[in-house]
Amino acid sequence: MTENLVELNEKLAEEWPIQIAKFGQKLIASEVRYYIEFQEYPNTSETGFASIYNVSGWDENEARKAFSMTNIQYSYGGNGTICTVKNCDFFPGFEVSKEERKCLGVKMCEFASKELLDVSHTSVDFTSSIFKNTFNANEKFYEKATLCLFAKAHEYKCGYVDRNGIRCDGVPKLGEFTQKDESDVIDECFTVHPNNTRSDECPFLHKVGNHIVKGTVKKPTTECPVKFYHIPKNLKECPFIVTVSVGIHNHPPPPPRKTPYNIKSQLQKIIDNEHVLDLTARKFLTGSMIQTYLNGKSISDLHPSLNNQSKINYYIEKTRRSKYPFGQNILGVVHEFMRHEKSEDPYIRSIRFLDNEQYIVLCGTKKQLQALSKLTYIEIDMAFKRIHGITNEWEVSAYSSQAQKTLTFARIFTNVETAEAYQNLFEDLFSCIERDIGESFNFHHIHKKGLGCIIADQHKGQALGLGQYLNSKYPHLTSIEHLQHIYKLCQVHYKRNIDKNRQLSKETRNAMYLIPTLNIQEDILEVLNKIQFCNKPGAAAWVKDKLVPWVLSGISSVFTKMDCTIWNQTPNNTNAGESAHANVNRDGCNLSLLAGIIRGQEFDKRQWESANVHEQYNVPESYRNKSELARSIQAEKRAEKRCKKQSSTSTSSRIVKKQKGNGHNKENAIVIDIGEEDSYLEQQKKKK
Ligand SMILES: [Zn+2]
Ligand SMILES: [Zn+2]
Ligand SMILES: [Zn+2]
Ligand SMILES: [Zn+2]
Repeated sequence: MTENLVELNEKLAEEWPIQIAKFGQKLIASEVRYYIEFQEYPNTSETGFASIYNVSGWDENEARKAFSMTNIQYSYGGNGTICTVKNCDFFPGFEVSKEERKCLGVKMCEFASKELLDVSHTSVDFTSSIFKNTFNANEKFYEKATLCLFAKAHEYKCGYVDRNGIRCDGVPKLGEFTQKDESDVIDECFTVHPNNTRSDECPFLHKVGNHIVKGTVKKPTTECPVKFYHIPKNLKECPFIVTVSVGIHNHPPPPPRKTPYNIKSQLQKIIDNEHVLDLTARKFLTGSMIQTYLNGKSISDLHPSLNNQSKINYYIEKTRRSKYPFGQNILGVVHEFMRHEKSEDPYIRSIRFLDNEQYIVLCGTKKQLQALSKLTYIEIDMAFKRIHGITNEWEVSAYSSQAQKTLTFARIFTNVETAEAYQNLFEDLFSCIERDIGESFNFHHIHKKGLGCIIADQHKGQALGLGQYLNSKYPHLTSIEHLQHIYKLCQVHYKRNIDKNRQLSKETRNAMYLIPTLNIQEDILEVLNKIQFCNKPGAAAWVKDKLVPWVLSGISSVFTKMDCTIWNQTPNNTNAGESAHANVNRDGCNLSLLAGIIRGQEFDKRQWESANVHEQYNVPESYRNKSELARSIQAEKRAEKRCKKQSSTSTSSRIVKKQKGNGHNKENAIVIDIGEEDSYLEQQKKKK
């Protein structure tokens, strides 16, 4: 049919002296128009209409995409035969290739308005009532996506009650639905879908006699005769792209469902700058970059097709898939790890798999881990729960006097629980540091320099895992002995555990608070003994727990085997670490493992970049000297000889804690002073 048409063109062209553009033997356009912007609805004509785009100044690849035939709103088919045109009159001297496509028409509702039935067109008048009606019907189609689902659920229960109270046979469920919003019921349907739409259901309810019925969107019965020819060439030599459209469309124009390439690529750039792993259409649309880009307009002002949120979700998902093809769980993490393993400074440092789908993922830059090797103490704290499922995120942090803030030195993501598994965690951490620094990691109680204190919330598996790791490396001490030298329990945590025992008398609880402040072993054991036999539920169990050697040495300065200067000079709670990860709260929660790791990476990057500023103005190698802490340890050692007892009492008896509202629990801004019970009680009263 089209062959005939082209031949006809030929004849017409021969008869007509005004032959405007000849693109090939049989491809002639009687009308030519130049455009700067792509025509989503290219004009057509029985004798050929050529839309010509001047793309000089464009990047060649970008131009090909922006002016590709895929951007037209008509569905097209045909096998896309591309043939070379040797003698193209219009572009003499240049070789041209020509791709041929065929218009596939549109699908229309079985209850389509008569107005739509014999619409043929050669150009789209956007102001015509037909275009407006189909356009509005399409908008409604987006809006009603959810309503449609509801209607589908009631598909076979149609029982419309009309204004006269006449109910048709069936269950009157949909009746309620239609009565609520009568504007959803239409007399004339203007639903037009591009032919390639999968959905065959009209979103509207149609009034047919006394019934309200849904409609099916049907494929066209007659073929559309229009053919499109796309003519790209060597754009460097001849910067023009041409679409020739021949024939008259025998159907109404399809609604604007496709988003033009230019807009799509702008959106893509913005999506690429967002956290694609947990991005949603809603988050995207409220983001600051898109807001700046839109400059007060709404997204559908860019192009009507963007009124569809699922379209934006599709772009997001597409980006996500192409960036992270292995998903976002441990498999995706492994892929990410392998992708960056050979890079100079990867963030994911090791992944260890244990039985039963357990894993340990160690993260930290070289700079972070190197700095960790120079610390005198670290805090290990569970970060705010931001990863869904059973994975925990452990943060290793410490206060840096150079940066004048608490920094994170490593993050460990794991779903392990047992001491044996945690032993692996510490092995991964310390051996990674040793590889980075090229020497063995120093622990103060073994090497007389280096890390002297690890402060943690009481987590049995983790603590014993640490002990076992140290014992495996330095077997002259048992696991428990190692812990007694290096492990300190968070005092805030300790106190909270006491607070939980509301069934105990105030007297008993006060005795419990007292234990870390006592300076004589016998006194502590005596107090514990009294608590144990106070006959209150939970008291005996509490004491039994505290009598575990590594726990007792973790809470009491007189039981610890830690250098007492280090004990006094290091914090007695994981408070600093918690202020470091307080911000994690804002960065999102319920993330996938991979998204959590990437958030952690970005957070650390920001934190350390701003820390660098300080470092540059300070003496860089002060880490080597352990700076203030090392100096004050020296100073205190001297002072200690003079008065030993006092200093240890005064430092360990006071905890001032400002709770940040995450972490241990939801208490806010409490000030605890274990040394002075009255002020603590006052605080409690104020809270009530
Ligand atoms: Zn319809
Ligand atoms: Zn057509
Ligand atoms: Zn704590
Ligand atoms: Zn915490």
